Amino acid sequence: MRVTRAEAGFAAARGIRFEEEPAPPARARGGRWRVPGRFCASARCSCLRTARGASTRGSSPCRVVYVDTGLNTIKLKGEDSCGRQHLITLKLNAKYPAEPPDCCVDFPVEFAISWIPQSSLVDIYNQFLAALESLKEFWNAMDEIDEKTWVLEPENPTRSATRRRIAIGNNVSINLEVDPRHPTMLPECYFLGADHVVNPLRTKLNNNMHLWDPDITLLQNLKEVLETDFPSRAVLEKTDFTMDCGICYAYRLDGAIPDQVCGDSRCGQPFHQACLFEWLQGLPSSRQSFNVIFGECPYCNKPISVKMSMKKL
Ligand SMILES: [Zn+2]
Ligand SMILES: [Zn+2]
Repeated sequence: MRVTRAEAGFAAARGIRFEEEPAPPARARGGRWRVPGRFCASARCSCLRTARGASTRGSSPCRVVYVDTGLNTIKLKGEDSCGRQHLITLKLNAKYPAEPPDCCVDFPVEFAISWIPQSSLVDIYNQFLAALESLKEFWNAMDEIDEKTWVLEPENPTRSATRRRIAIGNNVSINLEVDPRHPTMLPECYFLGADHVVNPLRTKLNNNMHLWDPDITLLQNLKEVLETDFPSRAVLEKTDFTMDCGICYAYRLDGAIPDQVCGDSRCGQPFHQACLFEWLQGLPSSRQSFNVIFGECPYCNKPISVKMSMKKL
């Protein structure tokens, strides 16, 4: 990273000092910069080192991924003990170091840092590494679900995503809201699908809840209490569970998937909530009570109802 005199002055005002290498090696493009006594990053190894950091955290290297030319934004990469890579973005404002930099992380919980004006960026980095370890079990649980089941939503889960909707069968899925602080406890769950398929699953969950064992994985527990195996990614394709809406003939509609299913066991046609609500609203035979509308399935004419809230309990 080449540093101009103006940038060096600007950085000095933020407590970061540049030092020109007396004889930079051929691979290094310019000088190196460092926060005095805190960390330094050289173009040769892109590794932050600190005497204090090294003594307190062993040899865990921290990596600079990005620094903007104004030295206001720094992205660092860290690895948890399971080998997952995570990023932290530090934004140094005008009041730094009296005030801490803004920290942006992809965590399912708030990342609250402790900071005094004498603190360094390495202190934040170490707090970041400690937070990664505290969330390790949560990410282990989510990774197992993502690897072994068909996750219908979210489409591309981030590290902060605590929700997963998993396919159980054709037009039947379970929505989980996992507590990141207690990832092996029974998560908040609700089922989506036709009543004749969902009701037995709900009964099993209620009857077997006491069998939940925090010492085994979240996925293993779900299999035990639901007495079911989740469709394997090895055998089935995602399209096996993703049936289009019977009204608009699409799968995704403004991010929503067809989660309203006709309760008649011979029909089982799925619809988007918005499509079904609009369809039933347009029929004179439909009846509305508060935000629930009752009418007939457009496919089999059996009774069907839909409400305008997101969750079906
Ligand atoms: Zn639709
Ligand atoms: Zn139907």
